[in-house]
Amino acid sequence: MKLPSLNIQIFIGTFLGVTIGLYFHYLGMQHSVVKDGLYASELVGTLFIDLLKMVLVPLVLCSITVGIANLRQHRQIHRVWVTTLLFFLSSTAIAIIIGMSASLYFKPGSGLHLAMFEHAMQNYEAKQLPISDFFAQFLHGLFVNPFAALAQGNVLAIVMFALILGVALVIGGERYKNILQLLQELLELTMRIISWVMKLAPLGIMALLIKLVTTQDAAMLTVLAKFVTVIIGTTLFHGAVVLPLILYLFTGKSPLWFWRGAREALITAFATSSSSSTLPVTLRCVTQHLHVKPEIAGFVVPLGAILNMDGTALYEAAAALFVANLVGIELSLAQQLVVFFIAMIASIGAPGIPSAGMVTMVMVLQSVGLPAEAIAILLPMDRLLDTIRTSVNVEGDMVGSLVIQKLVHKI
Ligand code: ASP
Repeated sequence: MKLPSLNIQIFIGTFLGVTIGLYFHYLGMQHSVVKDGLYASELVGTLFIDLLKMVLVPLVLCSITVGIANLRQHRQIHRVWVTTLLFFLSSTAIAIIIGMSASLYFKPGSGLHLAMFEHAMQNYEAKQLPISDFFAQFLHGLFVNPFAALAQGNVLAIVMFALILGVALVIGGERYKNILQLLQELLELTMRIISWVMKLAPLGIMALLIKLVTTQDAAMLTVLAKFVTVIIGTTLFHGAVVLPLILYLFTGKSPLWFWRGAREALITAFATSSSSSTLPVTLRCVTQHLHVKPEIAGFVVPLGAILNMDGTALYEAAAALFVANLVGIELSLAQQLVVFFIAMIASIGAPGIPSAGMVTMVMVLQSVGLPAEAIAILLPMDRLLDTIRTSVNVEGDMVGSLVIQKLVHKI
């Protein structure tokens, strides 16, 4: 019997995951079927993420190094660098403006009685992370012994090393052509393994969604419904209207064409809540379905997975305004500008792992004197919101690689 296409299988997996999750939620955590079901989902879901992480390290190293080397051969490296960084910063800025405008307009959190959260606040001790420390930590993490970085799966440090290695390889020229060829072949092999891992994607996604939906705290969501709605609404607006519009304006490509090619990555990001874990799938979609040249994709997509997070930036800025409303503080225009910039830095610094935004959120709150303990309120609903913002983070990288490819050829 011939199985339906991978895309259809992933859709079926998503549908079953949500449906079974809702049913488990209804049965309650104590039910023996739910306990067994959660155990199995945890096992399969983790296995899927482990497999993605397994290919992540060789993929990042090879794709960036080979990408740089090939760009240099075409004398495009400078243009691609500048265009990429400009695109990342502009799309993140637009996302933050959308999140902040919606928060200022709808004012989620104002009038909510804070006493109901006192208990949660008392039990949570926020990690203090002033911006100066954050900067120092970020800079310090850039240059690490490459073997340690590879062994620990430290994506940021691997990206930095790969950038340097790529430049060294092209400057070395002919002399190192064997190493370049080796890396090229390693990249092809990794892509082949990724296509095998993807066969497990429908099951993995189903398992991750069952766990997510079953363990979601519904009571908290109802209390904070307005905030949740504003965040989901604005994030979807950015993902479904703004990014496709940018894509259309720059490349003339239709959103439907884009989503058809991008959906494997968008759904994987939704289910894993991790841009890093999704990276193998993102790269596959961008090169194979969306036809971005490997040298552009190999450079833009891994860099975007760690630096370009529209969804996270939007969330952090909007959440800071929400907390201000909650504690009854009116932020001045200058403070709002501070939120804007710190949210941008926080999204750049957040690693592409689940709930990473929560850690850098502390920094945004503290930058304008809001209580870091408010994280206790944001945390319980973070699993849900992280799904959508991670999809939009990944979507931004995919749109970016298409736009950058177009711009670089135009210049
Ligand atoms: N989970 C997000 C990502 O991997 C980061 C975040 O927590 O906002 O892209």
